[in-house]
Amino acid sequence: MIIKNAVLDIVCGVTSTLPDTGMPEVAFAGKSNVGKSSLINGLMNRKALARTSAQPGKTQTINFYKINDEMFLVDLPGYGYAKITPAEKEKWGKMIERYLHTSKDLKAVFLLIDIRHKPSANDCQMYEWILHNGYEPIIIATKLDKIKRSQVQKCLKVIREELKLTKGTKIIPYSAETKQGRDEIWELIDSLTGQ
Ligand code: GDP
Repeated sequence: MIIKNAVLDIVCGVTSTLPDTGMPEVAFAGKSNVGKSSLINGLMNRKALARTSAQPGKTQTINFYKINDEMFLVDLPGYGYAKITPAEKEKWGKMIERYLHTSKDLKAVFLLIDIRHKPSANDCQMYEWILHNGYEPIIIATKLDKIKRSQVQKCLKVIREELKLTKGTKIIPYSAETKQGRDEIWELIDSLTGQ
């Protein structure tokens, strides 16, 4: 995908009506600080269009970035804030569930996992939840530049085992620093959205 145009087109709060965009959408989920904003900015070739590291307590929104007037990258609110209250967690869950249930144009869900860390219980829950809603998540192992090349396979194996990925599930390592993995992610998005 050659990025000619990228704009934050729609922001949905907890009670907003979800849009019927009529264009293919791919969504990104992951715990806060995993590198989701950095990935989305990297995919769009923008430095700071997607907000980075939203603070706990800040409004949680689903952000729709329109690319070339032909598709959307959808930034789902991050999870795993230590300070989140059960009520906030419930709101967050309902919002994501509503999106996964109602979007007519959602073609794929990417789940981001920090390549250095064993997936958390929340990550496993998110993976299960995406599956449950009828999508086969594609895993992006973020912050690739933070580990030695010799460690990559071992770290990917830990992720694969902890999430109990099926054999065919893709894991793509990505670095926001070097942009390694970017082309592969776009190729996949292009093929999933029929571009
Ligand atoms: P978000 O909360 O998931 O949106 O995470 P951010 O994109 O804001 O990233 C959290 C922190 O990790 C920031 O300080 C980023 O600069 C850093 N970060 C994100 N991706 C990478 C990466 O691929 N490599 C390195 N070295 N740092 C990264």
